[in-house]
Amino acid sequence: AKEKGRDNAQFFTPNMTNAVTKKFSFEKEVNDALASEQFYLVYQPKVQMEKDNILGLEVLIRWNHPVKGLVPPADFIPIAEESDLIIKIDEWVIDQALMQLKAWRDQNLSIVPVAVNLSGRHLVSDALVTYISERLSYYGIEGRYLEIEITEGVLLQDIQRCIDVMAELKALNIKISVDDFGTGYSSLSYLKRLPLDILKIDQSFVEECDSHTEDAKICETIIYLARSLELLIVAEGVETAPQVNMLKSLGCEIFQGYFFHKPMKSPLVAKLLIPRAEI
Ligand code: C2E
Ligand code: CA
Ligand code: CA
Ligand code: CA
Repeated sequence: AKEKGRDNAQFFTPNMTNAVTKKFSFEKEVNDALASEQFYLVYQPKVQMEKDNILGLEVLIRWNHPVKGLVPPADFIPIAEESDLIIKIDEWVIDQALMQLKAWRDQNLSIVPVAVNLSGRHLVSDALVTYISERLSYYGIEGRYLEIEITEGVLLQDIQRCIDVMAELKALNIKISVDDFGTGYSSLSYLKRLPLDILKIDQSFVEECDSHTEDAKICETIIYLARSLELLIVAEGVETAPQVNMLKSLGCEIFQGYFFHKPMKSPLVAKLLIPRAEI
């Protein structure tokens, strides 16, 4: 029998499904995490040819859970993406990343663009562009210091909406990357319709590009495609020198991966950023 209790927990009757209860507690945990600073950001450099030549930073979220310890994004981002919770999380990420850029600039360091991963749900929402432009002006950071990484699957869902939002982002000088390129179900026709800047070759092709001809051929084809469309190409998940050598021989110049730098907390990044020249 249902009894109306004084406290919220009793709202959930025993015959309510486990899934609903789980969903409720997940939402509460994420909200608690946002409120009590359990999330933090790490930054992974993208380099041009050399380790020291840092072109930009990708922002990756981390969750230091009070009971579960460090929870990887793969364990909570996909669940958050089932609801508007992902928008809350990604707005937090954008805000913190821009705040960090301002802090580095205030420390007189030369800042580089930061790339945030956005869920498709967020990209097509009405809130995105307004939120970004408001935060950029709040921190006094120019749009060219922000990049958006978006996976292919997302782009195919509502292409016209993507085109419209991306046009607004471009008007703010924000760059757009296609993440995990080659793993979606494309139809490549979206590549010419969207105002993209960068293709990121998925880690799964990079992994064996030095040992499997097929993987090398796929990398070569993606690099060629990017070049003909005048897009920059980034190889991600690069872990070994043979991979780097192979990718360089195929014409790739921008790399990201443990071979160069692991994702790291902001104080370590600050040590890699170049002090601005004295005026
Ligand atoms: P992603 O955007 O494809 O990010 C690349 C992942 O590969 C990251 O895992 C990164 O730490 C890892 N990685 C980088 N270099 C190497 C390497 O050399 N070898 C290997 N094995 N891995 C490497 P991470 O940080 O666990 O993130 C996993 C995924 O979670 C990301 O994949 C992205 O889709 C999502 N994610 C992370 N942070 C955010 C966020 O703030 N918002 C959203 N919406 N998604 C995020
Ligand atoms: Ca990414
Ligand atoms: Ca990726
Ligand atoms: Ca990925």
